[in-house]
Amino acid sequence: MSGVGLSTLSGSISTVSLDVSDDEAEMVTSTKVICFSAAQYVKDFLAPPLLKYYPNSAFVEPPLDLDTAQLAKGFDVVVVFVNDYVTAEVVEVLAKGGVKMVALRCAGFDRVDLAACEKHGIKVARVPTYSPESVAEHAVALIFALNRRLHDAYMRTRMGNYALSGLVGMEMKRKVVGVVGTGAIGVEACRILKGIGCNVLAYDVRPNPKVEAMGIPYVTMDELLPQCDIITLHCPLLPSTFHLINKDSIARMKKGVMLINVSRGGLIESDSLFDALESGQIGALGLDVYENEGSLFFVDYTMYELRTRMQKWDRKFKTLLSYPQVLVTPHSAFLTQEALYNIATTVCQNIADFTLGKPLVNSVKP
Ligand code: NAD
Repeated sequence: MSGVGLSTLSGSISTVSLDVSDDEAEMVTSTKVICFSAAQYVKDFLAPPLLKYYPNSAFVEPPLDLDTAQLAKGFDVVVVFVNDYVTAEVVEVLAKGGVKMVALRCAGFDRVDLAACEKHGIKVARVPTYSPESVAEHAVALIFALNRRLHDAYMRTRMGNYALSGLVGMEMKRKVVGVVGTGAIGVEACRILKGIGCNVLAYDVRPNPKVEAMGIPYVTMDELLPQCDIITLHCPLLPSTFHLINKDSIARMKKGVMLINVSRGGLIESDSLFDALESGQIGALGLDVYENEGSLFFVDYTMYELRTRMQKWDRKFKTLLSYPQVLVTPHSAFLTQEALYNIATTVCQNIADFTLGKPLVNSVKP
């Protein structure tokens, strides 16, 4: 089966090609797919392969929620992303409209009511890994940027301020870095950090032999917190990890610690950050995710008129952004050409497997 190139990405990396025969590809063309939260970059990477295999596909910019779920009426499959709301109420509307599958174009499924999907016979599939390297590299990019104050230095030099005061960093070599959660992404973070000479400590409820093979010791959270110069979070958001980082755990960290979260906002209790940033308990904070990012991220608010902007104004988030030792990116850790190619391939394959009645290897169950 001939593939579809990611031609709109600069320096197209490869072509999306599914594991289906020509006959099977013919059989899936009638499947109707609607893709929510379809910003321009999504259309750029996903429209060519999706339209090739599923010509009856549609793309809508708003996220999936109770207001937009009706748009899925008459479609077989909805393609959704991290901040789409697939709540029980939304699932009911989808089911009434004839939707049979929720195809996540991400790994996390914390916003999908799996029990409601199962109740209505709606299958859920995800993209379990698409580029753990990309996410881990972004975490390390935040570490480097914060350590050498690249964000400050960039702004200063643009303004004509070439003074050095306030830009002093530290050597990364021999610094103690705690990696919390050592699955696909955490193990990549361990590999990079070990490679630049850090003393890495790991914590996970299930130790990963790949990490142990690197000679990285597993310790308890109680042992990890006070020892680390840098702590980077790579565990999923679960009831057991909700607000893992809070007033108490922050108080047990080394003074001046650098804290990095590219995982899920809910891992950190945002309210516990302000005192810690002002007292210097947290020396630097790098975030790619934020607790209440759902109604904020992935939208360009600068083009909205003031009243709309104020309706979405998140005072807590704006306060966090105002701290000089805080660097925030808009949930873009995954965003590389390689990741998008892998996401496009797996989403199209998941839909084909579902349509053809093949085993849905990436299905998610309650
Ligand atoms: P994974 O499932 O491969 O690994 C998660 C690890 O966390 C596992 O080893 C698991 O044992 C561990 N874990 C579970 N509960 C824990 C606990 N209570 N304490 C410590 N560790 C615990 O997942 P992954 O692919 O490495 O992704 C990790 C997370 O990264 C995802 O859940 C997602 O939230 C986030 N993520 C963010 C982006 C982004 O762009 N910012 C992209 C992809 C994934």
